[in-house]
Amino acid sequence: MTEEYNYDLVVVGGGPAGSSAAFAAAKNGIKVALIEKENSIAETVRTSGVTWIKSIKEFEIPENCYHPIKNFSFASPNNEVTISDSIATAAVLDVRKTYRWLSEEAKKLGVDIFVKTNINDVIKDEEQNIIGVKGTRAEEKITFNSKVVIDATGFTSTISKTMGYVTQWERFGAGAEYEAEVENADPDTWWLMVGQEYTPAGYAWIFPLGNNIVRIGVGVGKPESNIDPTQRLKEIIEKKLGPIKKLGKITPIEFHYGLIPNDGLSRKTVYNNLILVGDTAGQANPLVLEGIRYAIKFGRVAGEVAAKAIKNKKTDETALYPYEENWRNAIESKINSAGKVQDRWIKLSDEEWDKELDIIKELKTEEFLDFIKADFGLSNMLKLAMSHPKLAVRQLFNLVKSK
Ligand SMILES: Cc1cc2nc3c(=O)[nH]c(=O)nc-3n(C[C@H](O)[C@H](O)[C@H](O)COP(=O)(O)OP(=O)(O)OC[C@H]3O[C@@H](n4cnc5c(N)ncnc54)[C@H](O)[C@@H]3O)c2cc1C
Repeated sequence: MTEEYNYDLVVVGGGPAGSSAAFAAAKNGIKVALIEKENSIAETVRTSGVTWIKSIKEFEIPENCYHPIKNFSFASPNNEVTISDSIATAAVLDVRKTYRWLSEEAKKLGVDIFVKTNINDVIKDEEQNIIGVKGTRAEEKITFNSKVVIDATGFTSTISKTMGYVTQWERFGAGAEYEAEVENADPDTWWLMVGQEYTPAGYAWIFPLGNNIVRIGVGVGKPESNIDPTQRLKEIIEKKLGPIKKLGKITPIEFHYGLIPNDGLSRKTVYNNLILVGDTAGQANPLVLEGIRYAIKFGRVAGEVAAKAIKNKKTDETALYPYEENWRNAIESKINSAGKVQDRWIKLSDEEWDKELDIIKELKTEEFLDFIKADFGLSNMLKLAMSHPKLAVRQLFNLVKSK
């Protein structure tokens, strides 16, 4: 038996991009289905969940969903730096709580949420444009007809791949982490750890959640390195490398594993009746592989643009293009600049990392934050590249602003 449903908009993927798109579309008055293959929203956590309080406030994410951070520490093999802020600007999300809150907000506006529903095929019209999706729910076949589909399936990009529009990401990050209880965690401070022993082509991290709970992880750039992040994570915990030693006894609570695209903004993100958003669109800051705030922000834009197009009865690529225009204007040049710094970082030897930390020490807190957030406003970069008292800092920012 096949169940069949008709919606204005079908959003596939109940991550931050999908829930946000469904929320914004329903807010604009159309009939929306949000489809998630797992048993519940955020059943599996595939992210470390660090983001910025400015964005959290903009999205109105409740305060009980995150833990604030105000010190940013780096460790290289023979160097350390801590940059402190007077107020907390970063936060570690309770990922499950936040993603569930996002989907509940969509549900409150009338979005129908289908969990345990795995989409594995598309429906096309005679001109080969998408007009729905198909899959299974509890082993029964299920079909959704819709005017627009949003592909928010994350790294796998199931819908766009099935349509033949994209192929697998070639360059990506693979990350493994434990959420763990430890003896001594500084609740205000995150650690990023760099150098060969932590991970070649990537970084390791400690993100605190308060109450002596931390996320300890390792990220590895692919195809640059063939190291398995899970194996490396176990090794660095066993060796108690660098700041891990200070944590004392580590008792894992939950294991997380995920992949994040790192191919730049290489994909076209609108087609007739179809929008790609979040990791499917490659919308992440490559420097620290950060994508949650972009997934939420551009998820909302995608939902709004889709709803407008549906109400105007014109859902071709041109009608959906304002979405692509919006996100490209907002982040394209920043992401490209972040990519240049990443290219530099990926090649650094241990000794060069020790020196790079000396450059980071020279940055003022707000300069550092702009840098790590890939908030590269050109005028700010020009100013730093021209007038910073240290030559090494000028060189770093020259790299960012170069074409
Ligand atoms: C190890 C790691 C650490 C990270 N740390 C951070 C961080 O600290 N801060 C940050 O901002 N970003 C981080 N990121 C990136 C961030 O997790 C992603 O950018 C973000 O999750 C993208 O959201 P999304 O909604 O596009 O995709 P996802 O969060 O991947 O959501 C996709 C959803 O679609 C569902 N789905 C997939 N296929 C189907 C299908 N066929 N049918 C139905 N449902 C389907 C999945 O089950 C999933 O729920 C990290 C990523 C990794 C891998």
